[in-house]
Amino acid sequence: KFRCRSAFKLLEIDDKFGLLQPGYSVVDCGAAPGAWSQVAVQRINSAGTDQGSPRGTVIGIDLLYIPPLDGAHFLSNHDVTDPATHGKLQELLPQGQAHVILSDMAPNASGFKDMDHEKLITMCLSLIDLAEKILLPRGSLLCKYWDGALSRHLQEKLSSVFSSVRTIKPDASRKDSAERYFLARMYRKPVK
Ligand code: SAM
Repeated sequence: KFRCRSAFKLLEIDDKFGLLQPGYSVVDCGAAPGAWSQVAVQRINSAGTDQGSPRGTVIGIDLLYIPPLDGAHFLSNHDVTDPATHGKLQELLPQGQAHVILSDMAPNASGFKDMDHEKLITMCLSLIDLAEKILLPRGSLLCKYWDGALSRHLQEKLSSVFSSVRTIKPDASRKDSAERYFLARMYRKPVK
């Protein structure tokens, strides 16, 4: 019933770390076709299925079209790295703020490993700018990256604004792929 097998990676990570709680506001970056959003809708109760728990908010964004899903609000044909998208998110989120930013974004792979790695790291770095605009203090960011020379740089940038950063290789992720996730928790908003 999930739109894509990637759902099992998020389920596995959430079972272990309890990222997604009923009532939370969650932004799902690179959401198409919508499997992670399906998991988020269930776990934060944004469709209101569990009347005894608080109802959360899920907003999914993708360059591509994302088919509608009960409990989620989708921004199809939107670029996560575009500041105009950040503005729309601020308008759509309750109080303009999110508890969790999820990113399973990936560029179209060119086949040149280093280039694809660099592209994805740059996209992940832009999530730190997004966090500064919408992430609540003590909030979390989960982002996919392809391991390579710049992984350490991204980890250091994350560590400068999150108290805890760990690397995750889900069992559901192919063993021979460079795919990893950073789970950054306890956001500390930088003072300007
Ligand atoms: N998590 C999704 C799911 O479970 O259905 C699968 C995501 S798929 C691996 C990666 C997605 O990232 C693609 O749909 C792609 O269009 C999207 N993407 C890549 N760059 C993006 C960007 N700059 N802004 C928004 N989405 C982007």
